[in-house]
Amino acid sequence: MTLRLAIVGLGKIARDQHVPSIAKTEGVELAAVASRNASIDGLPHFPDIDALLASGEAVDAIALCTPPQGRHAQAVAALQAGKHLLLEKPPGASVSEIEPLVTLAREKGVSLFATWHSRYAPAVEPARAFLAETEIRSVHIEWKEDVRKWHPGQAWIWEPGGLGVFDPGINALSIVTAILPSPMFLRRSDLQFPENRAAPIAADLEFTDASGLPIRAEFDWRETGGETWNIHVETARGKLTLAEGGKKLSLDGRSMVDEPDAEYAAIYRRFVELAATGAIDVDLSPLQHVADAFLLGRRHVVEAFVED
Ligand code: NAP
Repeated sequence: MTLRLAIVGLGKIARDQHVPSIAKTEGVELAAVASRNASIDGLPHFPDIDALLASGEAVDAIALCTPPQGRHAQAVAALQAGKHLLLEKPPGASVSEIEPLVTLAREKGVSLFATWHSRYAPAVEPARAFLAETEIRSVHIEWKEDVRKWHPGQAWIWEPGGLGVFDPGINALSIVTAILPSPMFLRRSDLQFPENRAAPIAADLEFTDASGLPIRAEFDWRETGGETWNIHVETARGKLTLAEGGKKLSLDGRSMVDEPDAEYAAIYRRFVELAATGAIDVDLSPLQHVADAFLLGRRHVVEAFVED
């Protein structure tokens, strides 16, 4: 059976990735769009999820691609209506709002998939396998990009719950939590807040694990002239580097993986698989680390961020 899916929130990621990936994936088709200001020619359109659900349009599943702050009420509405539900990352604006969604999905017998797209980057699984059998000495995450290039006009991202620089940084955390053999935890967090914004523009974090492994993460939105999305792992067998957000993997500079992006196609294949049995795939660890970064965060005020 083909899953008839509606996208809610037709913004940048829905257009760039969800729409083309759904078109390429067997077992799922785009059946409707709910978005206040955007639509797709030829598809049923509704202003929001409530109008979509009230319409009786035949959809089996919903992908929530709206900002995290408003997601919880939308997710509850989708699950109450018995729809399989895919959540863009981060799954919500708080950690604690997600568990009730898991309970509701179970009650309704539908799938809940909290996606972490970076975990589907081609270097991630080979890196996990390598590190499972190697002594790890240190980890250094550099996740730096130009907010003006990647998040133009996104007011929500600077508001509470929008995560600021953790919106991209959580992608790095989703990879590291997938490839390291032991759980990590935060020890220090320094956050730089523009004086006119409610969310940080940069973060410098120190994590460790039960063995005392040093794990440093630097997130910065003020990078210009290209982005740096790298994770370096010093090991007993050499320096393992995941570059370009996990598209490339190298050991001491020798290439091991170099493949094009196929993250969202893999996400939709997984969603089709989960929906077939009403299974749940929710891992909150990346969001938990972001919450910890705010909890332990020492706040530094830096110059105002002005978009233009
Ligand atoms: P976006 O371009 O701002 O799109 C979100 C869409 O949601 C908007 O176009 C808007 O469409 C709708 N919306 C509903 N309520 C809204 C509200 N209160 N404020 C603003 N928009 C609202 O954002 P995005 O970049 O696609 O990001 C959406 C989610 O995907 C975020 O959680 C983000 O972390 C994640 N994500 C983004 C990227 C990326 O590269 N941009 C990559 C991976 C994941 P209408 O106005 O038509 O309702």
